[in-house]
Amino acid sequence: MPVDFIALANTGVQKLQPYQPGKPIEELERELGITDIVKLASNESPLGPSPRALAAIRGQLENLHRYPDGSGYRLKAALGERLGVRASQISLGNGSNDLLELVARAWLRPDDEVVFSEHAFAVYPLVTLACSARPVAVPARDYGHDLPAMAEAITERTRIVFIANPNNPTGTWISAADLDHFLARVPKQVLVVLDEAYFEYVEESAYPDGISRLTAHPNLIVTRTFSKMYGLSGLRVGYAISSLDIAEVLNRVRQPFNCNSLALVAAEAALDDHDYLEYARDLNATGLAQVAEGLEQLQLDYIPSVGNFIAFDCGRESMPVYEALLREGVIVRPIGGYGMPNHLRVSIGLPEENERFLEALAQVLG
Ligand SMILES: *Cc1c(COP(=O)(O)O)cnc(C)c1O
Repeated sequence: MPVDFIALANTGVQKLQPYQPGKPIEELERELGITDIVKLASNESPLGPSPRALAAIRGQLENLHRYPDGSGYRLKAALGERLGVRASQISLGNGSNDLLELVARAWLRPDDEVVFSEHAFAVYPLVTLACSARPVAVPARDYGHDLPAMAEAITERTRIVFIANPNNPTGTWISAADLDHFLARVPKQVLVVLDEAYFEYVEESAYPDGISRLTAHPNLIVTRTFSKMYGLSGLRVGYAISSLDIAEVLNRVRQPFNCNSLALVAAEAALDDHDYLEYARDLNATGLAQVAEGLEQLQLDYIPSVGNFIAFDCGRESMPVYEALLREGVIVRPIGGYGMPNHLRVSIGLPEENERFLEALAQVLG
């Protein structure tokens, strides 16, 4: 009898569905033999990396035979100054995904409970199950987090609550008042991870900055990333801001060199590229309006979004629409895995890419 290594995996891992990334451009090229493909599937920046980041990377290439600075000294110092926190409150990661996983690994025991929202980011159940802890998905309200219901769902077994603000794939957001009300209700020993991967895009005045809540709530961990508006998805660099104690625990469980040397210098350079960031934010705001208007013209319902993506309702099962869009050379993201089988998520691209998407969609829906 061959050994069943799947059955030997830890109990959570046996139930785990791997994360499904957006289809890479190269894969669609191989499969359909077409070129001129528009990828609007992974909430990447359509601008390319900041020129300052590219210059910093070039300057660092000669040192690739050296290990990175495992303490991330310079990037943490720059982030600390920018964010008004101590460098020792910052933890760096191989993308912010790394930090979500480190929090789970450091604190979860088998059968602990982890609370998050229905339709929330897929990585939360993934890191929970990987530790054989129990995911508790709280039904959403109008596709957004129902914070009062999430507070109700906290039990004596709850160790972590994940909140995405704004959430991916829905683009919904939580106001400062609602967040504060929620934080006041969470027991002091329950960790709240506030995932702000799209923080830089949000322009709503009632949108809260999680970092300003850290002093009042030592159980809070805020995560951010250079993958989205900073345009550095391929390098994998993100960070968490927390109390010193929490940072100290994360530092124990991380890999010694979990942030590579190119990522460290590129992130530091991109952090100060104000022109690039302002342009990226404006371009996204214009693109969001363009795509929303196009969807309205096609009489499709969409969820109002403050991120760099919009989820829209195809009015029928979305998978065939997704596949037909692929044949038109447009890659978007099916989100059936998020409990939204009739929706697709499209990332905001350059104006001409948004136009390509809207034309292809009109064509496909006939
Ligand atoms: C993209 C994303 C992340 C993290 O991406 P990294 O590339 O790992 O930094 C985290 N949370 C949400 C909600 C995201 O959409």
